[in-house]
Amino acid sequence: MDEYTKPLPVPDFDTKPFWEFCKAHELRVQRCARCGETRWPPQGLCPHCHCWDFEWAKLDGTGRIDAYVVVHHVILPAFSDDAPYVIAQILLDGCEDRVRITSNVIGCPWEEIKVGMRVRVAFDDVTPEFALPKFRPEP
Ligand SMILES: [Zn+2]
Repeated sequence: MDEYTKPLPVPDFDTKPFWEFCKAHELRVQRCARCGETRWPPQGLCPHCHCWDFEWAKLDGTGRIDAYVVVHHVILPAFSDDAPYVIAQILLDGCEDRVRITSNVIGCPWEEIKVGMRVRVAFDDVTPEFALPKFRPEP
């Protein structure tokens, strides 16, 4: 594996479990034990009912593009071979439109990306420690 030169996540107390699930190719978000609401990004207490108890709910990894940009002018040299590339906000299924995760859409020419397009998570094992959740259009 070539050395990975792009920025990597910096897990903290709240996000470390999320990245560990990604490494196992599972997309999970926190679900409140009291009110049942999902939330993003990972955080200690429920923003809806202020309960500290939660579970890591396993999602099926599908969703739809809610917004996107196409990057043509690259700032960080590590991304220069990728341009043009797509950064999108994905509304994840199973979260009542409350979880909007920012990621890349891959496996599709940028000209074909549309708001509302159905996508599915595709984990990119970039290092032995990290798998990044990216998204591909559903067939
Ligand atoms: Zn709650």
